[in-house]
Amino acid sequence: MPLAIDIIEPRPALGAGLAYGSCGTEHRLNVPADRMIVSRDAPSDFADWLRTSGEEAKDPRGRTEDGSHYPRRAVFGQYMAQLVRGAQAGNVSGSAIRHVRKSAETIEPVEGGWRVGFGDEHETYRNIVLAVTHSRPAIPWAKVEAPNIIEDPWEKGALDAIAPDASIVIAGSGLTMCDVVVSLRERGHRGKINVISRRGLTPRPQNGFAVFGKIGWQDTPPQTASELLLDLRRQIRAVEAEGGVWQSVLNAIREQLPQFWTKIPLRERARIVKHLRPYWDVHRFRAAPQVSALLEQGKTEGWLEISSGRIHGLTASNNGVRMEWTPRGGKRGVVVADFAVNCTGPDANIARSSHAIIRRALADGVIRRDALGMGIDVDARGRAYGGDGELQSGLWVAGPMARAYTGDATGLPDVSDQVRTIAESLAAALADRHRNKACAI
Ligand SMILES: Cc1cc2nc3c(=O)[nH]c(=O)nc-3n(C[C@H](O)[C@H](O)[C@H](O)COP(=O)(O)OP(=O)(O)OC[C@H]3O[C@@H](n4cnc5c(N)ncnc54)[C@H](O)[C@@H]3O)c2cc1C
Repeated sequence: MPLAIDIIEPRPALGAGLAYGSCGTEHRLNVPADRMIVSRDAPSDFADWLRTSGEEAKDPRGRTEDGSHYPRRAVFGQYMAQLVRGAQAGNVSGSAIRHVRKSAETIEPVEGGWRVGFGDEHETYRNIVLAVTHSRPAIPWAKVEAPNIIEDPWEKGALDAIAPDASIVIAGSGLTMCDVVVSLRERGHRGKINVISRRGLTPRPQNGFAVFGKIGWQDTPPQTASELLLDLRRQIRAVEAEGGVWQSVLNAIREQLPQFWTKIPLRERARIVKHLRPYWDVHRFRAAPQVSALLEQGKTEGWLEISSGRIHGLTASNNGVRMEWTPRGGKRGVVVADFAVNCTGPDANIARSSHAIIRRALADGVIRRDALGMGIDVDARGRAYGGDGELQSGLWVAGPMARAYTGDATGLPDVSDQVRTIAESLAAALADRHRNKACAI
């Protein structure tokens, strides 16, 4: 059945999105090429494309000691772009896929579908998939407008004003911090970088994907947060006793999570999100070996310092920034630097989302927050719940905004699986109709 599909996307090209668009040459995928699975039907497609396109040969620095290849993120963006172009040029259903180069500002239910607003214009669709990805980071201090405070390092040119010898204090020590450190060093930064985060935890290094023994959960997942922790430790001990690595256990659990997450009682899921997530994140969202090596080099050479503690506030003057903080187990103090960069990661609170369309949809009752406060509430098929608790007909949510249902729809293979479920659900909803109009935002 041919469909009319509009992809509403302000970027000039489709496919790369936030993660794989404007990246530096040393921004690498955090998994080897063969783990970037867009479709389970063709799991090695990207790795094959990398070889046949000659991109792998052009990038010897992507190769690690164990023979894996961690490609540049921008190269993955090129691959995605050509997949989309291929689908536009021809697809099995004969659907027309159009790139509408605009930013969607509003969605509202209308007779027979949804009206999407773009400033003064609007367009009506029968079905919508909201796939706007993460919100920008939350700001961990009272808002101060100053050129030497970088609130959103993902903004284009955000780091351009930083001189190579400037001292920097970074709030947050996850993958965004890794990206910023890579960007700075790539442009020849020599100044001191002080990183402060609540626990001082950094993404662990990637270390192979071999499977050792019988790991993961069989029929039922652990039912409480503490059982989950004990179970993880038990499985890791067993794998390590066989000569394996803890990463294999995390990989196995992560693959099973969508299937098992909602089988854990809601109260315990909330405890897991609150207490275990910071530890899960650094073990689950690991860094490419090249990035881990750079952080180690920085610590050894003294240009990088990573500390744990509580940030109280930030002030700025022409001379720089002053961050007040209390180191873990220490006394309240001040870090003075030329620049401050906020790397605290995406803001999960959709009520203050950087996406105006999400804030407005929430305020209008078109969507609601999920019970875990991770994003938008959806059902097993990705359909959105409205503010009244009823499923919205013709409105789906894909990507990290819908991760509360599966526990972890953030990495590319997980998002791809979730999108496949949505596509099947959409196809079923359309099955008895003829030519329909749908759009993805
Ligand atoms: C920096 C970074 C690095 C990552 N690295 C990896 C990795 O190495 N391996 C891995 O497996 N996963 C990685 N991920 C995770 C994963 O790949 C992404 O989360 C995934 O690509 C999400 O896909 P998406 O389609 O939801 O979002 P995106 O691909 O980011 O697409 C969302 C699009 O929505 C558009 N948009 C937003 N608002 C509007 C609007 N109002 N109107 C119209 N369009 C709008 C944006 O312009 C954007 O292009 C990374 C994520 C990030 C952020």
